[in-house]
Formats: sequence, C-alpha cells, structure tokens
Amino acid sequence: MVQGAQQAGLRRRLAARLARNVDLLSRGRAGAVHRGPADLPVGPEAAALSLPRAQAQRPRALSRARGGSSGDRVDRNADCHSFGPARTSHPCVYRGFCVAGCSTNAKQSVLVTWLPRALAAGAEIRDLAMVGRIETRNGRATGVHFRREGEWHFQKARNVVVAGYAIETPRLLLNSANDEFPDGLANSSGMVGRNLMVQLNQAAWGRLEDEVRSYKGPPSLAISEHWNYADSGKDYHGGWCYMSQGPLPISWANTLSRCRGLWGQALLDEMNRANHSVGLKMVGEVLPYPHNRVTLTDETDQYGLPVPRVTYSLGDNEKAMIRHAVDFMDRSLEAVGATERWQEMDDTCHLNGTARMGDDPATSVVDADCRSWDVPNLWLCDGSVFPTVGGVNPSLTIQAIACRTGDRIAELARRGEL
Ligand SMILES: Cc1cc2nc3c(=O)[nH]c(=O)nc-3n(C[C@H](O)[C@H](O)[C@H](O)COP(=O)(O)OP(=O)(O)OC[C@H]3O[C@@H](n4cnc5c(N)ncnc54)[C@H](O)[C@@H]3O)c2cc1C
Ligand code: SF4
Repeated sequence: MVQGAQQAGLRRRLAARLARNVDLLSRGRAGAVHRGPADLPVGPEAAALSLPRAQAQRPRALSRARGGSSGDRVDRNADCHSFGPARTSHPCVYRGFCVAGCSTNAKQSVLVTWLPRALAAGAEIRDLAMVGRIETRNGRATGVHFRREGEWHFQKARNVVVAGYAIETPRLLLNSANDEFPDGLANSSGMVGRNLMVQLNQAAWGRLEDEVRSYKGPPSLAISEHWNYADSGKDYHGGWCYMSQGPLPISWANTLSRCRGLWGQALLDEMNRANHSVGLKMVGEVLPYPHNRVTLTDETDQYGLPVPRVTYSLGDNEKAMIRHAVDFMDRSLEAVGATERWQEMDDTCHLNGTARMGDDPATSVVDADCRSWDVPNLWLCDGSVFPTVGGVNPSLTIQAIACRTGDRIAELARRGEL
C-alpha cells in the first residue's frame, strides 16, 4: 500500500510534468492556450487545463482512502474508473491490474453499477446464453431464440432490445433474416453492418531514468482533450485525446514482440526494464465509411450460426490524424526527458457504428430513441447506433443512450404507444 501510494505519487508528478510540457507544445503549435477538461463532462467551456485538476478524482479518491468524505458528487473520467457516491463504493487504492478485474470493486464496471440495480428492479439475468435469432410476425418482433446449457429456447417478448455491440448486433440482425425481412431485420436502408468505426489507438513510448511502474493505478490516468477542441495545425477532420499508459506485463510483452520484433533474451531484457517505460496513447476519431462493414460468412460457429466477416481499412483522413498525433505525443515524451523513444503504429480500440442512428429511414437503422425504423418493438441500444464517433472513449455515451432508451420505452409504454 505504501509503495503503491509512492508510485502513484510518482505517476502524478510525471503526469503534471507531461501536462506542463504538453501545454507549452500546444501553445507553440496552435498558438492557443491549452484547454481541456477541468472536470468532466468536458468541452471548450471548461477552464484552461491543469492536469492535476483534470485528475480531480485522484486526490479525491486518496482522501476517501484515508477515511475522508468528499461529498456526494460523482466524478467521471473517460476510462470508466469513476468513483461512486460516498459510502456506496470502495475507493480506488491504485493497486493497478484494473484490466484483470478490480479486487476492491472500486472500478465502476456493470457488475457493481447497472446489474445490481437491474436485479433490484426485478430483472432476471440468464448468463452464458447466446441469442441466435429474433423472431418476427406481422412486422413485429415476437421474441428471441437463445441457446443455454446445450439447448435452444424461445423467449416471448413485447419488446426486444439488442445490445450486442458493433459486431454482434449487426450479425444477429443479419442472421435473423426471414420471409418478412429477407435482408435481415431493421435493414431496409441496407445500413445494417455498414459504417463500422474502430477508433485509432496509436502510441508513443520511451524510457525514463525514474522508476515509473506504469502498472500502478488505473491504466489510463492522465487524459488530455486538447486536440478535440483545437483545430489549428491539423491537416485532417476530427479530433483525438491522449492518455498516459499503464500496460500490464503480458500485454506489454505482446506489444514489444509485435511492434519491435523482440523475442527470447532481447524480450526478457526489455521486460526487465519495464518499470522505466512510459507511454502516451491516442483515442482518435475515424470517419464513417459505408465500405467498412460487417457481413456474414458461410462459416458457422459452435451454435451453427454464420460468423461475421469484418472488412476494414483506414482512409487518408485517419492516416493524417495518426501522423499528427504520434508526432505530438513523441515530442511530449521528449520534452519530459524520455529516451529510446519509439512508436506503436498499428493498434486500434473501441468499435462503433454498424446500425446507425438518424432521422431518415432511408439512410439509418434506428431513430433518436434507438427504435428501429422497420420493426417498431425492436430497439438497438449499444455502440452500434453511433452515426459518428468522437475522439474520446465511448462507454459513457453508450450508457447515456441506454438510459435514455430505457426511459423512452417506459414513457411510450405508459402512454400506450408501443
Ligand atoms: C480491454 C478494454 C478496455 C476498454 N477500456 C475502455 C475505457 O477505458 N473507456 C471506454 O469508454 N471504453 C473502453 N472500452 C470499450 C468498452 O468496453 C465498449 O465500448 C463498451 O463495453 C461497449 O458497450 P456495449 O454495450 O455497446 O457492448 P458490450 O459492453 O460489448 O456488451 C455487449 C454484450 O452483448 C453480449 N452479446 C453479444 N452478442 C450476443 C448474443 N448473440 N447473445 C447473447 N449475448 C450477446 C456480449 O457477450 C456482451 O456482454 C474498453 C474495451 C476493452 C476490451
Ligand atoms: S487501480 Fe484499478 S484495480 Fe486497483 S483499486 Fe483502483 S480501480 Fe481497482
């Protein structure tokens, strides 16, 4: 614990140093004051960035760890390491290893947020179930066929809400094609599966004399939104954010062998220096291109269901954004004294799109309530409905859309309009 707090302190100081240098670089590059999140939600109206303020949840969490209370407000950041209202969740103690599961339940995953609330409200969760097809009759969904414990079952439903994410949602809709909807459900526009957007996730890495121990604390600690709001100096559309990195050992070994070709003794030697590595990684906006898409193959999985094929490539806009971002992050690391710098050029992250929201049934799959245009009691409610994707992590927006959709279903049902 003491060592963890010391290492978190070192990372905090490093983050502050990075912020100061990034601020200087931003002024030099854009001729503007570096603006960004003082307290999320973020936006141009936020006060000028001071990274320690952007990380308001950290001293807040530490004060809670010491037994102090910091009020009932929930601080949020883009990587889901939010801290619940006082007395309802454990504080983050910066142990690290969040990606493998948080041993204190400080990380606000659905296991400690939505699922307990759903159960308390009377929901039944059928785990390890695979929905294979949605049934329809007279233009309406009647229920789903699902496989569980080796058997297929049918569940009747007044409303069907699909939330399988950007690959599995279009896969299920396409696999549900029938005589009424021969091209798949909700697909009269032909847009199901199209406009897949996989956010950019390139990185700059280096080595510091200080022992950083990047694995301590949440993996993405310090986030800057600057390039989501500043446009000068860009030769592309859209924005990106970037964040400090804390890869765990196996993923770090994977990165080193994949990106630098290290293997055997060379990989072991580099792994022994892992506590001195430091990195910044982008989450970058990509444009929606209809040809980036999910389709079905003839191959089937263990349930006999056709598996998806993903066709994806980057456009010139994305390549220009990557060049700018990687160069900027590399110069940021150089400014804090990092040596032996290198760049990770081929990573990607969050998937979005493939069942886009819109106001025209001819060019979109769902309306603003996430209700499918074609099947009135079929709702899609996950990252697939994004018509565009910003330059930040998507989960909070996905959850906001889900809450809104739930409210709309309840309201329309109350008014007898479903
Ligand atoms: C390692 C990692 C780190 C990430 N870090 C961040 C982060 O820091 N910040 C952030 O904003 N985002 C992050 N993301 C992305 C984030 O997890 C996703 O954007 C988000 O979970 C998508 O939400 P969703 O509800 O659309 O889909 P999901 O959370 O993927 O939920 C879809 C669910 O549907 C189930 N499912 C799919 N098909 C079927 C079927 N046919 N039958 C039954 N069930 C089905 C799946 O098992 C899954 O449980 C991260 C992702 C990964 C993998
Ligand atoms: S660092 Fe991550 S795993 Fe550790 S307590 Fe905080 S949220 Fe949980």
